[in-house]
Amino acid sequence: MKIAALIVAAGRGNRAGPGGPKQWRALAGRRVVDWTLAAFDLPEIADRLLVIHPEDRAEARLPGIRLVAGGATRSESVRLGLEALAEDGFDLVLIHDVARPCVSAQVIRAVIAALAKTPGAAPALPVSDALWTGAEGRVTGTRDREGLFRAQTPQGFHFDAILAAHRAHEGAAPDDVAVARAFGLDVAIVPGAEENLKITWPGDFARADQLLKGPGMRIGNGYDVHAFCDGDHVVLCGVKLAHGRGLKGHSDADVGMHALTDAIYGALARGDIGQHFPPSDPQWKGAESHVFLRHAIDLAAQMGLKPGNADVTLICEEPKIGPHAQAMRGALATIMGCDIDQVSVKATTSERLGFTGRQEGIAAQASVLLVPA
Ligand code: MG
Repeated sequence: MKIAALIVAAGRGNRAGPGGPKQWRALAGRRVVDWTLAAFDLPEIADRLLVIHPEDRAEARLPGIRLVAGGATRSESVRLGLEALAEDGFDLVLIHDVARPCVSAQVIRAVIAALAKTPGAAPALPVSDALWTGAEGRVTGTRDREGLFRAQTPQGFHFDAILAAHRAHEGAAPDDVAVARAFGLDVAIVPGAEENLKITWPGDFARADQLLKGPGMRIGNGYDVHAFCDGDHVVLCGVKLAHGRGLKGHSDADVGMHALTDAIYGALARGDIGQHFPPSDPQWKGAESHVFLRHAIDLAAQMGLKPGNADVTLICEEPKIGPHAQAMRGALATIMGCDIDQVSVKATTSERLGFTGRQEGIAAQASVLLVPA
């Protein structure tokens, strides 16, 4: 199966603000066009062809990329690109807008896979917002969103079929699916992705920039102390241990889990436990600390991060931690949704020095590394 990617980059893109055509503008350390071409640098794609505006030849000189001058309209540009590939024996072609640099290999492969059954396939997302009509700043009506999709690219086709469809097409078309359907070709819908946004307005650059840079790794540390009080048990790293005294605190006073939770908030630069779960709020009285740890993990997930590894140190003379360390690692790993090998729990005494040495309380410190999810 010989597959070509045809990237349409002939537009002038004046809605995206000043700075020249958007495909040549900088984005996350490269140009938009470089990201888009890189997305199609996949083993199953034999050739990548860029359709450019004739004035852009200097910008477009890229090693390993075929160039073709586009026409007056988008459809004309695509047809010229297809003609340039016509003699090269391609079975399939993926036609993609250069302004969608965040397209994933998953979306591209879903399109290719669907072409085993239909002559055309393209990604789309169902419309989830209510739809209105409006004029002069007022709502004038509503539209049923049932059965409506937001079309994306790449739009993939059997090569000979789409070439014939473009040769037969007259006038403008919103996209290649419209050209294909006008020619009678069946087009399958495959799942699109929100990340596969089309850079259209100035604000889209910032969103695409964030998506392409990714969150990177983040590191944090946490420290906590709880004083002993009357009681018959302590909870440390999610494990309840019988003990001659308890730990004083608003919640279950799990000092180890608090240190770890604060390490995660620290890595995210999103405050600390006290900010998210104020001790002044009665709803957290006696709360089990897994609620806090889970909240921190969920916040990390929202920011595209998951635990890489975590290391907790409990500082106390009593109780002895060693026999329970394995159970504590398991409890923390379960709450964090990771493997036990990613979590360390260890302990030290302070040689009978200081408040932990005098057994007035337990201290804990934790480090965590968060990695892209
Ligand atoms: Mg605490």
